[in-house]
Amino acid sequence: MLQGKNAVITGSTSGIGLGIATQLAKAGVNVVINSFTDREDDYAIADKLAQDHKVKAAYFSADMSDADACVALVEGATEKLGPISILVNNAGIQFVAPVEDFPPEKWDAIMAINLSSAFHTTRTAVPGMKAFGWGRIINISSAHGLTASPFKSAYVAAKHGLVGFTKSVALELAEQNITCNAVCPGYVMTPLVEAQIPDQMKAHNMDRETVIREVMLDRQPTREFATVEQIGDIVAFLCSEAATQITGTPLSVDGGWTAL
Ligand code: NAD
Repeated sequence: MLQGKNAVITGSTSGIGLGIATQLAKAGVNVVINSFTDREDDYAIADKLAQDHKVKAAYFSADMSDADACVALVEGATEKLGPISILVNNAGIQFVAPVEDFPPEKWDAIMAINLSSAFHTTRTAVPGMKAFGWGRIINISSAHGLTASPFKSAYVAAKHGLVGFTKSVALELAEQNITCNAVCPGYVMTPLVEAQIPDQMKAHNMDRETVIREVMLDRQPTREFATVEQIGDIVAFLCSEAATQITGTPLSVDGGWTAL
């Protein structure tokens, strides 16, 4: 069913985005991967996906903090591959600080990349999905889209916003054979999480191992990180026939975190 369909995955040269691109490519989906770095390595990742999985794959550099670049990503991908029927809004950044010290420019960047980019790519992709008669929009939110932690005010606000956006878009498109869902991971070991560890060590005055055990995985009852392959497979499931009636849903993949 997914064979030959075309997907755009934002922020996908590493971590969860690359895990999603890989699992979709494995299922036969042509993929456009994205970051804002425009390095040779980025193009090499796309070439490898194409070779490994015998699909079309391309890299498109676009800064997801820039509305015009979000539009250009979807338009460029459509020119390259044809109708984009799978859109995965994954790009995201994190910054950790007490609210009174939170730099306003970091707040703005988190809102732009983690929330507004999904609006700009979605508004650009939806007419093509309607014309194609089938579509899947999957927004990578977070356990922090459903619950909160201290020192992450911008991230928590943006991820809650993304869940609200998901529900609204799902209702608008419910009769168009286009679903819109959010995936809400707990901790997945990726460069984004690795980069948070020093800030968390400072904020909690703890060493690395204690932060991992007592701050990060303390919230995750399974005491295990989710893997990028698991998140990729869940995205592929949301694109499958079995998931046709799942729409407007925040799907937790958090080892029980939000059951607490
Ligand atoms: P990561 O840092 O490994 O990857 C982020 C990707 O986004 C990279 O490819 C990076 O190049 C790209 N990116 C960053 N800023 C960008 C910009 N301005 N324009 C285009 N691309 C940009 O992070 P990750 O952990 O894989 O996170 C991916 C998504 O999953 C994020 O939205 C994050 O909030 C969410 N998430 C992650 C975890 C986790 O534990 N890792 C948990 C819940 C949710």
